[in-house]
This record gives sequence, structure tokens and C-alpha cells, in this order.
Amino acid sequence: MGMPSFPEAAREAVGDTTLRANLRHATHTIRDKRARAVAELDDWAALREAGKRIKDDTLRHLDTYLVRLEAAVTAAGGTVHWAADAAEANRIVTALVRATGETEVVKVKSMATQEIGLNEHLEAEGIAAYETDLAELIVQLGEDRPSHILVPAIHRNRAEIRDIFAEKMGSWGRPAPDGLSDTPAELAEAARLHLREKFLRAKVGISGANFMVAETGTLVVVESEGNGRMCLTLPETLISVVGIEKVVPSWRDLEVFLQTLPRSSTAERMNPYTSMWTGTTDEDGPSAFHLVLLDNGRTDALADEVGRQALRCIRCSACLNVCPVYERAGGHAYGSVYPGPIGAILTPQLRGTSSEIDASLPYASSLCGACYEVCPVAIDIPEVLVHLRERVAEEGGKGHRLEKAAIKAASWVLDRPNTLAAVERLASATRKVHPKRLPGPGARQWSDHRDLPELPAEPFRDWWRKNRP
Ligand code: SF4
Repeated sequence: MGMPSFPEAAREAVGDTTLRANLRHATHTIRDKRARAVAELDDWAALREAGKRIKDDTLRHLDTYLVRLEAAVTAAGGTVHWAADAAEANRIVTALVRATGETEVVKVKSMATQEIGLNEHLEAEGIAAYETDLAELIVQLGEDRPSHILVPAIHRNRAEIRDIFAEKMGSWGRPAPDGLSDTPAELAEAARLHLREKFLRAKVGISGANFMVAETGTLVVVESEGNGRMCLTLPETLISVVGIEKVVPSWRDLEVFLQTLPRSSTAERMNPYTSMWTGTTDEDGPSAFHLVLLDNGRTDALADEVGRQALRCIRCSACLNVCPVYERAGGHAYGSVYPGPIGAILTPQLRGTSSEIDASLPYASSLCGACYEVCPVAIDIPEVLVHLRERVAEEGGKGHRLEKAAIKAASWVLDRPNTLAAVERLASATRKVHPKRLPGPGARQWSDHRDLPELPAEPFRDWWRKNRP
């Protein structure tokens, strides 16, 4: 992928004071509102536990529920396609769009389609994909990358958004009004006028889904703007690309997440728009519905007994908003559509740890545990981070060979008491000439900000021999 490792990518972001101010303001505002919304519920802990158990049970019997979902979607007039990886999913979607004869599609915000690079693939095939979620529109017009799960343009402030609209809207469709200011109302109106034209023209819509209910084959999208509902209802053909872990067995299970997701993400009691659809309905909504079920590394994650809990994620983004590392580094440094703590455990499981960026992600954390505390499905992110660090170290990733050699040498010495005593004496006797900083680029930087421990003039075991009662 050619992405730099997390520390390299984060360095630039950490030095960008505007970005840090935007992130700090946004994450602190959302996290405070979330805390108030969660505190309103007496049974929050029980809901959290219920969400965790439902997801774990569903993941344990994922094959059963997916087959049940497929049968229900098919019975309701939809068509189900299975995609093992990104390439297969992109091929399926492209063929479906081609079959309609259209060269344009409108999209509701979908992380799964970003994960597989669908827009880029469609563009290469001569099909234009228009993002309709406001934040995604800002990202697309600005030729940018999303940096937050819920608020993909969180790194932009209003003045930057005004400039992007004024400069770029015209080349994508209806231009921004003359003299556009950076007030939220004017920016929203400019986006509304620009997008309305696309909604009314589009014959094909592409979506993801927050949940899929196996018992009836119903898909669910929760959103705040109503743009999603336009995408889901106006086009003649609807194609939904959804990760296989998004299935829940029943409506009763869904009820739990419809309480925890809005409070954890936008700090609302319920979402302004909750759209649900089951196959197709005569004279109402799209006349053709295709569901593309995406694996793309999910069954590999499922096979890992510790790591599989990442598949419980309902993409609320609460963990991002409390993470001290995300707040400083921003979302782009994670090199994936999934930033923040969940990205640090999900991406290396979906993509593997062979690239520099993916091997560095499990280290993009202070292990403070704030992410686990707020997660509405109780994913123990620190536990998975440590587990993945072990995997990276086992694979002998860059930077770990030296560490492994040092630990091997330490075990050899610690296994031999006489050698250990001799080493301790030598270290104490030469302590005046010990360097204050460690050698080597990484170790030197580490010791720039830390004091190395002072060695005593006499090793403890010698002192003990003389002073023991
Ligand atoms: S890991 Fe938990 S807190 Fe983070 S996005 Fe997923 S569900 Fe939300």
C-alpha cells in the first residue's frame, strides 16, 4: 500500500496545530454529550452486556444466521451475492451497475464500500459515484480521505469547508451559490441544492447497512441527515454492500442496538432517520434490490479467539472520541477507513500485519483503557492490542528483532545466577561512565525524554549478604 508506519504518518499530524485544534474541539464536544446521553439510562450496563452477548452469540453461529438472512432476503424479492474479498465485491457491484445501463450512482455513507475502494474501482470502469452524506461529500469534493467513522470530515473547519464548496462543487454538478459564507445554515443549503439534483436524476443507489435482521431479511441504516433515505428510496436499483458481521438474529436483538448506537455515536436518544427495507415492494421504493455480503478478512478475524471481539463493533466511534492518541494524531495516520482504537485492532486483522502500517497499528495506543470503558459492546480493545502486538513480534516485524535478541540475552543471563552476579557487579563498578542516553536512533529518541535509572554503588545481593540479620 505504500503507507508510512503509524508513527511516521502521525508526526505530520501532530505538528499541524489547526488539525489538532479541530480534532480537540470536535472530540471533546461529542464525548461530553455522549457521557450525558448515556447517564440518562439506568440500565446502560445491562444494555451493554446484552449487546456484547447478542454479538458473541451471533458470531458463534454466523453461518446459520447468514443463511437464514439470505433465505429471507430472497423470499422478499432481493438477490444475495457473496463476496470473499474486495476484488470480488467490486466486480459484482460493477456488473450490477452495468446491467442497468447507468454510468452514475448515488451513495449513502458506507464504510464497507470505502474499505473495498469501490468509488475508485467504479471510476476506473467509467462509472461516477456521488457521495451524498454531507461529511462524505466534503471529503469527496476536497479529494481527501475520511478521518473519523462518524464525522469523516472532522479534520476540517467551517472556513475550509466553505472554500472546498466554492472551488469544487461546480466541477461535480450544481455550483455553490455566489458569496457563500461559512455559517452552518448556508453550507448545509449549498449541499442540499447540490445533492438534490443528483438524487432526482439517479437510477442506482449504493448503500451499506448498520444492521441486517436475519429473521425477516431486513436491512437497517441509521443516519442524521435524511440523505441516506433519499438514496435508499428514490433510485430504481439499490445495491447494499454489507460486512457479514452486521447480521443480528431478530428484531428483539436489534432493539438493544437501536438504544446503544445513537447515544454512543451522536449522543442522541434515537436517530433522526432510521430506514429499514426488506427486499422490494411493488410501487414503493427500488424495484430491484441486491445485497452483497462481504467477507474480506472477517472470517480470518473470527478464527482468532481473542481478536474476534473486534467484529462486535457497531461503528459508533465513541472509542475514537476518548482516545488520547487519536485526538493528537487524527484519523489519516491509521492508513485505513477504520481509524482510532477500533481501527488499530480491526485493520491488522482484516488486512494482516505484513505491511509496515498494519504492523505498527497495534502500537498506536497508550493502553489507557478509555476505549474499553465507553464501548457499547464492551470490546476489550487493550486486550486485543496486546494480543496483536504479540502476533507482530512473533512474526519478527521490523523493530522487533533487536527486542527479541535483547530478551533472549536477558533470559540467558537470568538463568545463570553466577553470571548475573558478575554482570551486576561490573555494572555497579562502571556506573560513573555509563552513557546518559541509549545508542541507536529509536532508543536515543526514547531516552531523550526519560531518565535512565541510577545504578546503586553496590548490587543488592552483595548488600544483602553483608547486612542480612
Ligand atoms: S469499538 Fe466499540 S466504541 Fe469503538 S466504534 Fe466499535 S462499538 Fe464503538
